[in-house]
Amino acid sequence: MTPGQIFDGIRSGDSGALSSGITLVESQHTEHREDANELVKLCLEHRGDSMRIGITGVPGVGKSTFIESFGLVLTKHGKKVAVLTVDPTSSVSGGSILADKTRMQGLSMRDDVFIRPSPAGTTLGGVARKTRESIVLCEAAGYDVILVETVGVGQSETVVKSMVDFFLLLMLSGAGDELQGIKKGIMEMADGLLITKADRDNIKKAELASAEYKNALHLFPSNRNGWTPQVYTCSAIENKNIDRVYDMLREFYEHVRNNGSLEESRKEQDKMWLAATLKELISNDFFTNDGMLEELKVMEDKVFKGELTSFQAAEQLYKLYVKKDGRV
Ligand code: GDP
Repeated sequence: MTPGQIFDGIRSGDSGALSSGITLVESQHTEHREDANELVKLCLEHRGDSMRIGITGVPGVGKSTFIESFGLVLTKHGKKVAVLTVDPTSSVSGGSILADKTRMQGLSMRDDVFIRPSPAGTTLGGVARKTRESIVLCEAAGYDVILVETVGVGQSETVVKSMVDFFLLLMLSGAGDELQGIKKGIMEMADGLLITKADRDNIKKAELASAEYKNALHLFPSNRNGWTPQVYTCSAIENKNIDRVYDMLREFYEHVRNNGSLEESRKEQDKMWLAATLKELISNDFFTNDGMLEELKVMEDKVFKGELTSFQAAEQLYKLYVKKDGRV
C-alpha cells in the first residue's frame, strides 16, 4: 500500500490501516523511511486535538488494570481511546511484557479502542520517536485520548513526558516508608499522582500514603503551567475514584487551555523533538558512512597509542566529517 492509501484508510476509521501505518513508521528499514515520512506529513495536516496522557509506575503497580478500567470510563464519555506503550526493555517486536495478550481484555475487544504494544527498537530515542509519530497517526484517525504507557524502570519517563500533555504517576502505598525509594525527579514531573489498590484492607494505608505525597508535592517547585499536581487514591478492581481521574483531566485541560500553557508546552515539545531528530540524523549519517568509520578506526589507534586524547580525536574526526561533505 502507498502512504496515500494507508492515509485514506486511517481517515476512514479503518484500524487495520492504522496498524499498517504504525508498522510503517516503526520499520527499521531505511527504504521505508521516505514512505513513513510522507504518511506522517499527511496525518499532521489532519491532526485532531487529542488529550495526550502519559501513564507510568513500577511493574506491578496496576497500570494495565487501571488503563482497562479508566479506558472504559473514557469510552462511556464517548471518547475514542488509543493506548500506546513505550517499553525500551523489549527487544523483540510484540514480545514485550506489555504486549501480553491477557492485558486489557475488555478494552481490546472494543471498536472505539486501539491498543498497540511497544515497538522494538535499539535505543530509547528510536522507540520514542516512533511512538511520537504513532500519536500523530492516532490523532489523524480520530482518537480523542491517547494513553502512552511506560514501564517506570528507567529513563523512559522523561521521553514520554516530552510527548504528552499530562503525566500520571501510579504509586503503591508501601509499608510505612512512603517516601523512600521514590525517584524524586519522576515525582516532580507528575501532574497527577494515583495511589493504586485502595481497596480491601489496603484503604487506610493508601489514604495515609496519599496524605504524605500531598505534603511531599508541596516541597517541589511549582509547574510552569500553574497547575497544582493532584493526588488521589483509587481502586481499578473496584472501580473506585476512576471517574475522578477523568474529572481531574478535564480540569487540567481547562486550566492549561485558558492560560495558554498547553499551546506553549506543545511548541516546546516540537522544538525539542526537532533538535533530537536532527541529532539522530547527523549521528546516523556519520556512523553509516564507510569513509568516516575508517577514519574513526585510525583515530582510535592514535588514542590507544597515546598520540591523541579522545577529545582531540573526536574534534579531528568532526572536522574531517564536515569537510568531506563539503558543508564547510
Ligand atoms: P502493571 O504491571 O503495572 O501493569 O500492573 P497490573 O495491572 O498487571 O497489576 C499487577 C497486580 O496488581 C495484578 O495482580 C492485579 O490484579 C493487581 N491489581 C491491579 N489493580 C488493582 C486494584 O485496584 N486493587 C487490587 N487489590 N489489586 C489490583
